[in-house]
Parts: sequence; C-alpha cells; structure tokens
Amino acid sequence: MKILVVGSGGREHALAWKLAQSERVQTVYVAPGNGGTAKDHRLSNVPLSDPAALADFAEKEGVALTVVGPEVPLAAGIVNIFRERDLKIFGPTREAAQLESSKDFAKAFMKRHKIPTAEYQTFSDLAAAHDYINAKGAPIVIKADGLAAGKGVVVAMTLEEAHAAIDMMLADNKLGDAGARVVIEEFLAGEEASFIVMVDGKNILALATSQDHKRLLDNDEGPNTGGMGAYSPAPIVTPQLHARIMREIIVPTVQGMAKDGIVFTGFLYAGLMIDDQGNPKTLEFNCRMGDPETQPIMARLKSDLVQVMEHAVNGTLDTVELEWDRRTAMGVVMAAHGYPDSPRKGDKITGIPAEAADAVVFHAGTTEQDGATVTSGGRVLCVVGLGDTVKLAQKHAYDVVEKISFAGMQYRRDIGWRALNRKH
Ligand code: ATP
Repeated sequence: MKILVVGSGGREHALAWKLAQSERVQTVYVAPGNGGTAKDHRLSNVPLSDPAALADFAEKEGVALTVVGPEVPLAAGIVNIFRERDLKIFGPTREAAQLESSKDFAKAFMKRHKIPTAEYQTFSDLAAAHDYINAKGAPIVIKADGLAAGKGVVVAMTLEEAHAAIDMMLADNKLGDAGARVVIEEFLAGEEASFIVMVDGKNILALATSQDHKRLLDNDEGPNTGGMGAYSPAPIVTPQLHARIMREIIVPTVQGMAKDGIVFTGFLYAGLMIDDQGNPKTLEFNCRMGDPETQPIMARLKSDLVQVMEHAVNGTLDTVELEWDRRTAMGVVMAAHGYPDSPRKGDKITGIPAEAADAVVFHAGTTEQDGATVTSGGRVLCVVGLGDTVKLAQKHAYDVVEKISFAGMQYRRDIGWRALNRKH
C-alpha cells in the first residue's frame, strides 16, 4: 500500500517514519519532504506542494491514504479537493480548519459553546483597539486573526508593547491580511500543555499528552519560536485533568462544530493554559499535530498508525485502543544560526548517527547536497531520546545531540525541566 504525507518538517518525518513501520506499507511518499525523508527506508520525496497537483499524484500512483501535516494546505482546502475526487485523506476541511485559520472564528466559537478560554474582543479599527488596551491595561495578548507562521501572537507585558503590536498589525500591515483583524485577549498565567486528539467526525481518540518549549533560550527566555523541544507524557495532565479537558474542552468542541453544521475530521490540537489551581483554559486550537510534539508522541506510539488512520477515515475510531511505550520520550530541537528571525541555510551537518540505542533523529530543515546533509531551514533536526525516567530520556537525547554538529547551531540545554521538577 502507498501512503502520502504532505509537508516537510520534523512532524512529517516522524509521521512518515511511523507509517513506514507498518508491514502493509510499500512506500510512504513525503511531499515535498526533507533530507531525512529522502534517505529513510521505504520513504520517498515528491517535489510537490500544490493541493491539486498532489491530488493528481495520489490518483496516478494509487495512494491509499493521505495525511496532512501543516495548516496552510488544510486552510487552502486540500481535504475538500481530495474528497471531491474520492481520494482518502485524513484532515479537516477548509471550513473545519477555520478553528485554526481564524482566531476570531475560534474565539467566537468557544464563547458560543461555553468552552473555557480567555476573555477577548476583536478589532479591525486602529483607534478602537488602542482604546480597548488603555481600558484593559497590561499584561495583555494581541493576536493576528489569520495564519502568521507563529509570528502573529504578542504577549505584551507593558502597554507600550501592546500599542506597538497593534500598530504593527493594523497600521503598518506587517502581517498582511492575517493581521487585518486582531483578537485582543486577557493574559492567562500558568503552565502550558498540548492536548491532541484524532477525530473521525464523531468519535474522539486522545493521543498521549505532551508539553512544548516555545522560547528560544534556556529558562524560557528569548523570543517565541515554533517550538524548541517537547516531551511526552506531560505529567501536569493527571488522569483527573485529562478527563476534565475531554469533558469541558474537547467533546464540546467536536459537538459544537457539528451543531454549527461543520463535521470535524482530523487531528485536533488544543493548546492549553493550566492555572495554579489546575483549571484548564484553551489558548488556541490547531487542526493538525504539533511540531515538535509529534516527534516524541510518534516515538512512543506502539500501535500500527496505518490501521489507526484507516479507522479515522472510515469513522470507526471508537474501535481503536492505542498502545503506548510507557517510557518518556524527549525531543530536543537543533535550530539554525539566526533562527527564528533569519535562519541561515547551507551549513554542513556532521555526526548524525545512522542508528542510536534509545534515540531517533528526525529531520526538518535539512537537504541533501553533493552527498552531504546541509541545513535548509530554521528548525533543522529534532533528536528524540527514550528512557524509563524523564532524566534518562533527557540523557539519551542529549547524548546524540552532542555528537551532531553544524556551524551556528542553537539548542536548549534544559528541555524537560518542568517534568524533572515535578518527578523525582
Ligand atoms: P502556534 O505557533 O503554536 O500555532 P500561534 O501563533 O497560533 O501559535 P498561540 O498558540 O495562540 O499562537 O500563542 C502562542 C503562545 O503565546 C502560546 O503558546 C502562549 O505561550 C502565549 N499565549 C497565547 N495566548 C495567551 C494568553 N491569553 N495568555 C498568556 N499567554 C498566551
């Protein structure tokens, strides 16, 4: 059987790596893929990214199932296009993907369905936005309505920063159409967790929990990034909290979408803030797996992902029980010189082990050039270590990270600190 994974990051390498472990799989095509997916056994890169061209490819090659990694093709309607042509694909339609592609849509949806989230108001008028901020005070959070590749959120600790963010989006149009409307919301304090489920239209299957590290530098300092590392499970999500998140956030979201006439299929990712009383609120929805959360989650998944995906597209996820490696998986992202603002490309990477005990190296911004692997994007690699304890998982990841080298590489030395502080 042939499978197609759409995307080119570490998330897609991890999905393709896991799908290729199924005995029924002949080839997993990755479009457009990266330097890692170009080399792995049973993986093959396809230089396409346009949804219609991908549908042509899937039809011609007899691809049995397509899985979409990133949000941009989902918001562009790749699932609608494939379905119109009777091609099996796992992901949300363009309409369902609005939960991620419009923050105003997501906030209005949560308000309507009483899903816990921060108080907010949406603005396109510059003066009204400035007035609102003056009335509310800082800290306060300014979010571009549309997709902005992780650059659309400003957590303003002062009124000055808040006003500057409003001007950047509404007056200077720095984010284009994505920032033509802004959501201004209450600042929430607490600890973040990522809660990802698979939805087949009605049944919901929770994946293992995880926690990301958004900031570039150790001690959660420096600018926000796409994510510098993640581990699974997230000990903050106790079984009680898990049940509460399902009851108060995930189930009402899937049912609320259905009530609004939109059937949700695909991965649903709730980014949560858990306050010090243990109450969860939704920061955002993504309509896809997270990157880098996917890497440790896939490293722990023992079930056959192809079979799970088949149930997901056939509406029978209620018959699936996932099996997980009980160990902790910890992913450390190695990023390029200049990331996140202006990542440099073309640095030669050395020391990636062909195989490592208790670790897997997932590629992201890499490409093959004259027989060498070189950097080609912001986040370059994600090294996932597995261990019986958080500390061991961390050791196994960093043992491999320290063998790898490229000019200007940046990585955090403290991935996993929250889980380590919790578990001794
Ligand atoms: P992603 O790249 O994860 O999709 P995004 O650009 O869609 O992110 P959000 O996840 O909504 O944006 O916000 C990014 C980060 O900003 C969050 O992970 C969180 O750290 C912080 N944040 C967002 N909303 C709030 C809030 N109301 N209070 C405090 N911090 C917040």
